[in-house]
Amino acid sequence: MANRSKRLFKRAQRLLPGGVSSPVRAFGAVGGIPLFIQRARGAHIEDVDGHVYIDYVMSWGPMIHGHAPKELTQSIHATTKNGTSFGAPTTNEVELASLVCRLVPSIDRVRFVNSGTEATMSALRVARAVTGRNQVIKFAGCYHGHADSFLVQAGSGATTLGVPTSPGVSSATAAETLIASYNDLASVKDKFAKHERTIAAIIVEPIAGNMGVIPPAHGFLEGLRTLARRYGSLLIFDEVISGFRIGKGGAQEHYGVNPDLTCLGKIIGGGLPVGAYGGRAELMDQVSPSGPVYQAGTLSGNPLAMAAGVWALKNLSVNMYRRLEKLGIKLASGLSEAARAAGVPLQVNSIGSVLTPFFTDEPVTDYMSATASETDSYATFFQAMLAEGIYPPPSQFEGWFLSAAHTEKDIDLTVRAARKAMQAVHAKR
Ligand SMILES: *Cc1c(COP(=O)(O)O)cnc(C)c1O
Repeated sequence: MANRSKRLFKRAQRLLPGGVSSPVRAFGAVGGIPLFIQRARGAHIEDVDGHVYIDYVMSWGPMIHGHAPKELTQSIHATTKNGTSFGAPTTNEVELASLVCRLVPSIDRVRFVNSGTEATMSALRVARAVTGRNQVIKFAGCYHGHADSFLVQAGSGATTLGVPTSPGVSSATAAETLIASYNDLASVKDKFAKHERTIAAIIVEPIAGNMGVIPPAHGFLEGLRTLARRYGSLLIFDEVISGFRIGKGGAQEHYGVNPDLTCLGKIIGGGLPVGAYGGRAELMDQVSPSGPVYQAGTLSGNPLAMAAGVWALKNLSVNMYRRLEKLGIKLASGLSEAARAAGVPLQVNSIGSVLTPFFTDEPVTDYMSATASETDSYATFFQAMLAEGIYPPPSQFEGWFLSAAHTEKDIDLTVRAARKAMQAVHAKR
């Protein structure tokens, strides 16, 4: 029984909106009460009632090395002894910047912030400043954090909760955000045809991860690159998930397409709050204090966060990605097989160490096809997996994340649980 979680959630609901600090955590899409987590190590998390689960949320992506690697926690401990924030430059900040610039092909200079949200809103500010234009093209179902400009047909929690445009976003701001369809270049051309000289940037998740995982169709990213150049707009890759996840150089290295600006988050902080945006020197030199585009942060480049980031990026290896990809393939085929055996329609989209099982017959390539999935079936599946000691994301529209700490045995246990869970889905459909 989840007695302690239940009690805590009751109390939390009186004190925090919805009882949580971020919406999808509330389990709204799958029912039941959220589990309060006490500790995590490796691929496992333990709730306050002492139940242990194989974790596929992995803090929504950051924990590629698994939870609480010893060297990482030691490095953070050692750093705290020298103070936790100075509001002044530090050695690790330069070290992390040098790692980012070396690993990510299109980044010459980088600015550290505290979240992915700050990274995307600041990158858009740079794009608006250098182009002297205001509009931005984003894709339905892509999520770029919660800044006003991006809360129009956003993914992640907004998709889970069915919010087209959040109340509180001014209509003037919403009007500057043009919505195109993912993997559909014609929809982007159409926006440029109507707004030839007013679009500052295209922002895209080069591998969509917030309407569930949707890889880019062949030629899609190249096409965006060409269109942005032709119309004098900047191309912004939001690699907050794909950065350091799909390989050391992110999606831009994997697909060989260089954006003008890149947004980073999640893995870059090793589980501490870090975001970053970067790009070619002449663009980033527009940012204050080298240039006029103002952007600042009291805790930006925080010493603990920088220490964690340095450890996380230094420990990425080609071998790790190879192993992660193998595990990803094993999990994806295991889930497909479990669904087939139970006669449940399932499409598993997977790339490297991230995947989403969509409960649908049709291929999932964009927001429309993603939202055609049976979310009730996902909810049934989720609850059955939880009962078997597996912790998947509490929404159909999120990625499952593997880490270096997951083992073949973890995948075997997960697939075994999925066979049972798919039977439960079949019985309910
Ligand atoms: C998580 C995410 C963000 C927002 O990052 P926060 O740190 O939650 O503000 C932005 N873009 C993408 C693609 C993300 O997955």
